[in-house]
Amino acid sequence: MNKNAINMKRIGKYIYPLLIFAVFEAVAVALWLTKGEIFYLYNFSYIGLSVSLGVFLYIGKFRYARRVVQLLVGLYMLVYLGVVRGENMQIEGFWYYLFTGVFEAATIHYAVAKIFGPLIFGRGWCGYACWTAMVLDFLPYKVPRKPRKKLGWIRYVTFALSLAFVAALFLSKAADIERIMFWAFIAGNAAYYISGVALAFIFKDNRAFCKYLCPVAVFLKPMSYFSLIRVKCDKEKCVGCGKCKRVCPMDVDVTDNSRKRLNGTECILCMECVKNCPKNAL
Ligand code: SF4
Ligand code: SF4
Ligand code: SF4
Repeated sequence: MNKNAINMKRIGKYIYPLLIFAVFEAVAVALWLTKGEIFYLYNFSYIGLSVSLGVFLYIGKFRYARRVVQLLVGLYMLVYLGVVRGENMQIEGFWYYLFTGVFEAATIHYAVAKIFGPLIFGRGWCGYACWTAMVLDFLPYKVPRKPRKKLGWIRYVTFALSLAFVAALFLSKAADIERIMFWAFIAGNAAYYISGVALAFIFKDNRAFCKYLCPVAVFLKPMSYFSLIRVKCDKEKCVGCGKCKRVCPMDVDVTDNSRKRLNGTECILCMECVKNCPKNAL
């Protein structure tokens, strides 16, 4: 391959951040025009810019590319959308806006990032945008030190509890539900962080909260099964060294290409397996 062709190939890779930005921009403009609110334009433009910057950095082999996106998107959602704008972006907020029939930021956010989006990008939300994992990923157990426990059923209980909490507010006709939802957002996040950090140390696994307790995973898992974007293994190159499985924070058997692979719907697309494969088989 001559020098020009190599340069073109290198530049060609950078088309992906532009494409991603274009998709987000299309969503931003469509929502702005249909809903008549400028908020949707800057909201989705900002998220699109952050994600494309992360992809740009990843292609450029910057080690902390994923963390940069996590911080840019996670802090924006937690601090600006949650605290400043008072949007309850947690699962309770989704139930709340669903019950009130208002198609607001939290409902749109859930529809895009957690219900239909996973058909394309699987659990990319969990790897690149979640503000809970943004903090948990700073803890010392990036690679789980203990085998995964069969405790995933607990998240179905927390899922049901979150729904029951919001339903009870509506059924009891609680006064000033909006205010309650704001404080539920603050208290809910505090509970997530405290339990998330505690579980990480108990199980010696930063992502223990994601695996056992997080109710949002109940939404994320079914659609991720059909995800368009997924890590695949080139069996011709793989030598079966097992390094990919050892570094995976979510215990995915990434060498199995079937959709039914072990913990397949847990993959957060963090690319640690890809970065660590000695044979470039992933
Ligand atoms: S499983 Fe829950 S806490 Fe973990 S990254 Fe996903 S949404 Fe965030
Ligand atoms: S790290 Fe690469 S070579 Fe080793 S088992 Fe995984 S895919 Fe195969
Ligand atoms: S290490 Fe690989 S298989 Fe495991 S979560 Fe990250 S991208 Fe998915």
